[in-house]
Amino acid sequence: MIIVMKSGASRSDIDRICGKVEARGLKTHLSEGEDRTVIGVIGHDPFSVKDAFTHDPSVEDVVRITKPYKLSGREFRRADTVITLPNGLTIGGDEVVLMAGPCSVESEEMLLETARAVRDGGGHILRGGAFKPRTSPYAFQGLGRAGLQHLAEARRQTGLPVVTEVMTPSEVESVAEIADIVQIGARNMQNFDLLREVGRHTRPVLLKRGLSNTIEEWLLSAEYVLSQGNYNVILCERGIRTFETMTRNTLDIACVPLLEELSHLPVIIDPSHGTGRWSMVAACARAAVAAGADGVMIEVHPRPDEALSDGPQSLTPQNFAALVPQLRRVAAAVGKRLAEPVRTGADTAVAG
Ligand code: PEP
Ligand code: MN
Repeated sequence: MIIVMKSGASRSDIDRICGKVEARGLKTHLSEGEDRTVIGVIGHDPFSVKDAFTHDPSVEDVVRITKPYKLSGREFRRADTVITLPNGLTIGGDEVVLMAGPCSVESEEMLLETARAVRDGGGHILRGGAFKPRTSPYAFQGLGRAGLQHLAEARRQTGLPVVTEVMTPSEVESVAEIADIVQIGARNMQNFDLLREVGRHTRPVLLKRGLSNTIEEWLLSAEYVLSQGNYNVILCERGIRTFETMTRNTLDIACVPLLEELSHLPVIIDPSHGTGRWSMVAACARAAVAAGADGVMIEVHPRPDEALSDGPQSLTPQNFAALVPQLRRVAAAVGKRLAEPVRTGADTAVAG
């Protein structure tokens, strides 16, 4: 249920209505638009909020949300969610953002080398896994907390915000302390304890679609995060399992316009995991931006042949840099623009 306040409703009207709703044992979530405030009412409603509030003089309307996902749906919030990172970069508005970097943080040296290449090539956010969800327990599992420190150092030197995965609720605190965006990997999309835990923090969350999950299940997972009070969720399509085996996954580009209809949350596309083949990454990244995605996430490695994970789908820095102007042109063709390049790292600071 949502309570749509009249456009002139005062703060005390809003507080009064919220107080009455909460007195019924229900939770409230405010969405403050430019013109009016919408109060989301969460929980079972045996007392019928509709009857109780429809005639209140400060209330415009009381509307039942028909979809199973509530806070993540367009019914609750018509305007797009725009997430602003500490350096001012926005995700979900008119700008397209490029997240790029290695699958895994392999060492400080290689991360710094990749981070500089990503920044100089026109990327906006550095990606890199410190905690890695590997299919085999014998595969490289990531550097863990040491990897987080390397990401912090790469941000300090290049000015790039960082996105990295968290796999367990007990590590959310340490990952959120360092990451600008906390990633929930595909394999954890329905780890509900983990979703609730990142929901209790304020860091933006990049929620990858599960390997075999429907769009509705994905939005319900986002709902776990939002319902804990963290509204900064970015949806990331990274390919799903189908009968096709020539590509690692089947990249569902159609989810971009569909999610535009269903949800106000930003959507980004990961063509690296979506295809598993570096030779297909550029074309699928262009398609993602053409479809209206708010950004792309691309794996980049200085020497893909030597990568400890996902080398076959990683672009070289040269191929990444060649793709960026193409994405700039595609963004312009669909009425968007690439975010401004990042130029503020310690290694670019000019003395005096
Ligand atoms: C990753 O981004 O490196 C990753 C493990 O992705 P996914 O969870 O989509 O497989
Ligand atoms: Mn990977």
